[in-house]
Amino acid sequence: MLEAGKFYSLEEVAELLGVTYQLIYKLVRTGELAALRVGKMYRVTGEDLQIYLANSRVNGKAQGGLPQPIICSVCGRSYVSQLSISGECEVCGLPICRSCVELKKARRCEVHELEAEKGKA
Ligand SMILES: [Zn+2]
Ligand SMILES: [Zn+2]
Repeated sequence: MLEAGKFYSLEEVAELLGVTYQLIYKLVRTGELAALRVGKMYRVTGEDLQIYLANSRVNGKAQGGLPQPIICSVCGRSYVSQLSISGECEVCGLPICRSCVELKKARRCEVHELEAEKGKA
């Protein structure tokens, strides 16, 4: 397994990821994967590899990956679940969270609420 404090040769990294040595070499040369140069050899720390892997995780929308957060147009909080949203701006249709609908009785997003207020004044 990947150990943060350990040094890996490019061959080992390639084997760990199940890709070719050439690919890893290219990633190091292009700077995509951080590596140490020791003489003519490259060494990748487990930590750098973990960082690289974390950054290369594909969101995978098409494969039903992490849902995009839904941002309440009144309070600006973001919600992961559609269930937290219980209304929408009656002008532009932006989502409004349940607490804004129930507690603030919000019927419009912040922008349109302000416009409505101005209109009254
Ligand atoms: Zn809200
Ligand atoms: Zn609106």
